[in-house]
Formats: sequence, structure tokens, C-alpha cells
Amino acid sequence: MAKAKTTQRPLSAKTCKQITDLMVHYLTDKLRPKVKQDFQKHLAICPDCVAFVNTYKTTVKATATLRSDEIPPKVRDNVLGFLRAKLRRVTALVFFLLSQLAA
Ligand SMILES: [Zn+2]
Repeated sequence: MAKAKTTQRPLSAKTCKQITDLMVHYLTDKLRPKVKQDFQKHLAICPDCVAFVNTYKTTVKATATLRSDEIPPKVRDNVLGFLRAKLRRVTALVFFLLSQLAA
């Protein structure tokens, strides 16, 4: 009776991490319908990830309207570094999924 259960965290941080990994595919509409559904389900209960989606969208929109020679080098380095890290993570995830399928 004295033990109060925490119901504040319906999903683990790992799921939020997966959401950030899927972000670019979500925004380019490349997710499979079922994955997209899970993605949107998560967004419905996770304000953190909604904020991240919005930030991401704004960033993409802002950079898309700039020609590459108009982006300050520092910003471009940041974006490239970010994308490279992202790509590495996505690649790792793909290999992980493939290994799961093969098992
Ligand atoms: Zn989340």
C-alpha cells in the first residue's frame, strides 16, 4: 500500500533513442506503415520527442533554404558531424536488425 508505482515513464529512454534514429526516415516518409504508427504512438505520449521532431524539422527547413555556400562553415561542420554520427548509428542499427533477421 505504501509503495507508489511510477507511471510517469510509459516508454524507456531506449525507445526515445530509437525515435531519434528513425527521425530522418520519418520526416522523409520512408518508414514502413507499422513503424510509422509506432513512431506516432510514441510522439503522442512523449513531449520530449515531439520537441525533438519540431527542432529537427525547423533545422532541416532552415538548412534546405540555404545554399551550401551560404551556410557558415561552423554551422556546416556541426551539421555534417551530426549527420555522420547519425549515419554511423543508423548503419549500426541496420546491421543489428540484419543479424536479428539472420538468427
Ligand atoms: Zn520519446
